[in-house]
Amino acid sequence: MTDPAVSCSIDLTAPGKHIGRLAFPKITNTAGWASTFVHVASIARGDGPTVLVLAGNHGDEYEGQVAALRLLHELQLEMVHGRVIVVPVLSPAASKANTRNWPSGANFNRSFPGRPDGPPNEQLADFLTRVLFPLADVVIDMHSDGRSAWFIPCSHMHVVDDQTQRKAMLEGMEAWLSDWHFLYIDVNGTGLLPVEAENQGKIVITTELGGGGRVPAPIHRLAWSGLNNVLRHVGVLEGEVQTRASLGRPPAVILDGRNPGTIVLSPEDGMFEALLEPGDAVSEGETVGRLWFVDRPDRAPELIRAPLDGVVTVTKAIPVTEQGDCVFVLGVPIDRSELT
Ligand SMILES: [Zn+2]
Repeated sequence: MTDPAVSCSIDLTAPGKHIGRLAFPKITNTAGWASTFVHVASIARGDGPTVLVLAGNHGDEYEGQVAALRLLHELQLEMVHGRVIVVPVLSPAASKANTRNWPSGANFNRSFPGRPDGPPNEQLADFLTRVLFPLADVVIDMHSDGRSAWFIPCSHMHVVDDQTQRKAMLEGMEAWLSDWHFLYIDVNGTGLLPVEAENQGKIVITTELGGGGRVPAPIHRLAWSGLNNVLRHVGVLEGEVQTRASLGRPPAVILDGRNPGTIVLSPEDGMFEALLEPGDAVSEGETVGRLWFVDRPDRAPELIRAPLDGVVTVTKAIPVTEQGDCVFVLGVPIDRSELT
């Protein structure tokens, strides 16, 4: 099998706290023999699980990147039982450019499993697939909706077939202690990072922590507290595991987004006006938003209606809308017992 195209400057199997970098060829007009760096840290002490903490899969989703950078900074060796590997910014050029995708146009979250002789995004994906995932028991991949949309702040999951893996993922998702959780399917292509990790049998815990081009302070707090509680929950971080009950909060609401009909696409170009907020309950046929027309002020707005009963989960954050853009997504509350 071909060696990965990505090199790592630290020994990820060594005990202790080490901060280093992954490097792979950078194709640029301004330097020859250049490399792209993706920074990585390993904090390892004694027996325990290995947890891979990932953020910045999409560049303009900063909630997880800030939490992961803080974790890398604050996690002390004596707090760890096992190993935490942190890659705080998987897509650094996209992060600096405030874009979802890489400057090449590649969507890193559609690059898996990757290949060592593919373009740079696939080279990095291949390194995760063949080097980092096999080391890990738990893979945490933090997302939000970036600039484009606001996703009800939540941890979420695929409902995987394996019952043991599903139960562990459900409990991991709940350990984030968000008010909402979401069950998702892949409706927009293949090659997702979580799917590759799930296929390797890992406990995969993912988030959608808002978005819309601004990170409110409560979201930073949710990213940080959720990440830390999940690390305690899986046993790699010292300290008492909190639950919503122990915090005096009601149970979280689990929203089911596995029906593709819950995703509403704009029928034409226009300017989207949201009439409801994520978290609002809607009935089938109720107007969720309106589409206005810049070049046709005489035209009445197009009403965009809920396709079924549910809860608004995602709403488009950038009013300018093209035909086929997702303008909102509904989730349908379901009972936790349906997942076990
Ligand atoms: Zn994302």
